Amino acid sequence: MTALSLIQFINKMPKADIHYHLLGGVRMQTMIDLADRYDVVLSELDVKSYYRAYQQETGSTKGGIAALTLLYTLMRQPEDYARVLLEVAEDAHQCGVQYIETFWNPSDTELNYSDVNQALVMAIDQAKLQWDIVVRLIPSINREKSPEEAVTMVEAMIEHSHPYVLGIGIDYKEHNAPVEHFWKAYRLAQSHGYKLTAHCSEFGLHWRNVETGIELIGVDRIDHGYSIIDNPELMHKYAQKQIPFTVVPSNTYFLNQWPNPQDWSNNHPIKEMALAGLNIIPCTDDWHMHNTDTTNCYRIMVEEFGFDVLSLKTFMVNSLHASWLPPETITSLVKQWSQEFDKLYQQLNFTPLIPVSQQIVYRSVTANLSVKDKE
Ligand SMILES: [Zn+2]
Repeated sequence: MTALSLIQFINKMPKADIHYHLLGGVRMQTMIDLADRYDVVLSELDVKSYYRAYQQETGSTKGGIAALTLLYTLMRQPEDYARVLLEVAEDAHQCGVQYIETFWNPSDTELNYSDVNQALVMAIDQAKLQWDIVVRLIPSINREKSPEEAVTMVEAMIEHSHPYVLGIGIDYKEHNAPVEHFWKAYRLAQSHGYKLTAHCSEFGLHWRNVETGIELIGVDRIDHGYSIIDNPELMHKYAQKQIPFTVVPSNTYFLNQWPNPQDWSNNHPIKEMALAGLNIIPCTDDWHMHNTDTTNCYRIMVEEFGFDVLSLKTFMVNSLHASWLPPETITSLVKQWSQEFDKLYQQLNFTPLIPVSQQIVYRSVTANLSVKDKE
């Protein structure tokens, strides 16, 4: 039996990524090609400043939101969306990802919702055939635009409904746009059977935004939500309810405060959330933009945060339970993926740098709770 390094093991284990912004996964060459195609003046150096992997050499940094805004102006035909989705699926497949729920922002394009959605749906079918990867869609509200535009987005989703479109999200800068401003879009989506998620309490914003998302809007899960650690009582309540929080180990607002990974093992919110028993699920957010991938996110949980390797099984199982796949599919995938994990685990040859006594043992499995228990 071949021995596997930690990276090889993580790469081979089946994984789901349920917090993935489609345009954060645009390859650098694709951005260059799109600029060429539409005669947009954009030098290689300009392009590199959007990608964390190259930012040091350019001496200029442009954040993820700036990159997404630019990319939406470069994606001028539905086929551009199809191309990006196929590339995302191919890259994810290389990384052992078998299931993705991806956000895109319909209000950021001049194209018709139905045209883009149709192109994405066709690309999803092709990706399934080619790499046996399942991709599903979450149209997401750009909260820097008006709540009325959000309603328009949901109306288009209802008019052109498709089984691959599972729910709605909200992203972009949260500072002046808490989730409650968009209650009407959320209410409409919910009344038509869509699942709900929301980026809340990102960028160090108040924990109240998480509370509002859960208690008032009724979201099924929270994206980021790190400031919840400032309210231990509420954090305990949501841990009991096992509400999923998608967290991004490779990219948070906290990276600016603690650029050195050595500091992450001390007081990072993701670690505090886990220790409080919150249902956390590691995800990538913006894959190529932020120079990460799903394997890297899981690696960070072990090597930088100090979780033991078996915690990865908990994350894997919880990611399926937090997904919006049909319940019977979740049950069968949990069984299948767990067996694959256990088999690969036998081959793992890894000596953690962090002593066993100091490792975090995360076994807060939602799998132990039936759907009824969760309610
Ligand atoms: Zn995000």
